[in-house]
Amino acid sequence: MPDYLRTLFLHPPSFEGFDGGAGSRYQARREVRSFWYPTWLAQPAALVPGSRLVDAPPADLTLDDVLPLARDYDLAVLHTSAPSFAHDVKVAEALREANPALRVGFVGAHVAVAREQALRASTAIEFVAGNEFDFTIQELAQGRAPAHVAGLSYRTNGHVHRTPERPVLEDMDRLPFVVDVYKRDLEVDRYFIGYLLHPYVSLYTGRGCRSKCTFCLWPQTVGGHRYRTRSVGHVVAEIERAARLFPQVKEYFFDDDTFTDDLPRAEAIARGLGRLRVTWSCNAKADVPASTLAVLRDNGLRLLLVGYESGSQTILNNIKKGIRLDRAREFTRHAKALGIKIHGTFVMGLPGETRETIEATIRYALDLDPDTIQVSLAAPYPGTALHAQAREQGWLQDDDLVDAGGVQASVLGYPHLARTEIFASLEAFYRRFYFRPRKIFAIGGEMLRDRTILRRRLGEGADFLKFLARRRRLSAAARAARPRS
Ligand code: SF4
Repeated sequence: MPDYLRTLFLHPPSFEGFDGGAGSRYQARREVRSFWYPTWLAQPAALVPGSRLVDAPPADLTLDDVLPLARDYDLAVLHTSAPSFAHDVKVAEALREANPALRVGFVGAHVAVAREQALRASTAIEFVAGNEFDFTIQELAQGRAPAHVAGLSYRTNGHVHRTPERPVLEDMDRLPFVVDVYKRDLEVDRYFIGYLLHPYVSLYTGRGCRSKCTFCLWPQTVGGHRYRTRSVGHVVAEIERAARLFPQVKEYFFDDDTFTDDLPRAEAIARGLGRLRVTWSCNAKADVPASTLAVLRDNGLRLLLVGYESGSQTILNNIKKGIRLDRAREFTRHAKALGIKIHGTFVMGLPGETRETIEATIRYALDLDPDTIQVSLAAPYPGTALHAQAREQGWLQDDDLVDAGGVQASVLGYPHLARTEIFASLEAFYRRFYFRPRKIFAIGGEMLRDRTILRRRLGEGADFLKFLARRRRLSAAARAARPRS
């Protein structure tokens, strides 16, 4: 086995409670405290013996906490995102100042699509890896010269170079299990997602999504539009191992872009999980047939995370969602009839949004009535078709995708619909969805049945009310700042 550089994988300290690490597709601080696992960093960490993965935001680590680590390592790999990049650069500079011999590189979708631009942001950054960086980082950690590592942009003697692209990873079983890295370096209790049981563990069984939604970050930047998958046996073996490592875990989440993109494989994995008797959940498109839903449910599926996005067919067509409203309604009926819970996600401010489509989407959500919802503001991440379109059309009115506290900002505005109105629609959406007798009874009943859930929901409720109060203050400030005609 080759010698490895002492390698630190770091999701840097950032905004307080920032859920924007190497597993978050929507990088922002949430309405309630939540964290995804840093799976994109855990994968290369599993390939580098003796490495360490530090996920600063869930561990509440500050820059002062992580700086002493600089002297213990030869190589630091920082995962960055569009909203956190400027701050992450400062962390890189501080690490280099603490240990001038430390080699610092950046990974993540945001820099993968603009590698040289990222390198130019600071001389503290020695290299930036391209799309799938697992083996790129492994080779660097083995001490290979950057010039001989595919998929890399790097700086040497003040000049920036780019090596040939790394071929897309086809044999996904070459990726080792991440759960051993989670066990070694993370505290599973610190990872929360409101609609998942706690504690939960999430991981990927494949990369890429067959759909081409124009706003969606990963398939357009790092994953591509082919669903490349690990074998069924490999996935089931990792969950079997996870169940031994984490007997306290109540739910496993498959965070593949669209786990249901390959229905026969989803059913085969489900049957394997059924034998393990674990509870699990996954991302799904709103077009899974009832027969498949039944197989998944019979084998431990508890919840589906479904991107409905909008109640306007025109908007769904504009963003190339590839789904019809009637099909999504039918899917939802089937899932609910089978007792599968649904967390539905919606996006306000996508191209074609009007006051009427906002109202239609809220009514659509009330009508579908998923168990829980998440409402996001359209976020045109660099590297996506939406970002290019927004620039071309003049819709992009601010480059900062989050506000000073790391909370999502409304950056797209249209001649017929101001971004302040889109911003205000988010609160209206949440209020109309959750402040209904049916929802209040459902959540109250769940709390009465389980004291752990009671404690958790009370904390989340307090977070949520703070979030709404903050929104109201920002909306009022935006209204006051709007020029009067
Ligand atoms: S279906 Fe979901 S994961 Fe796939 S491109 Fe669309 S939004 Fe992204």
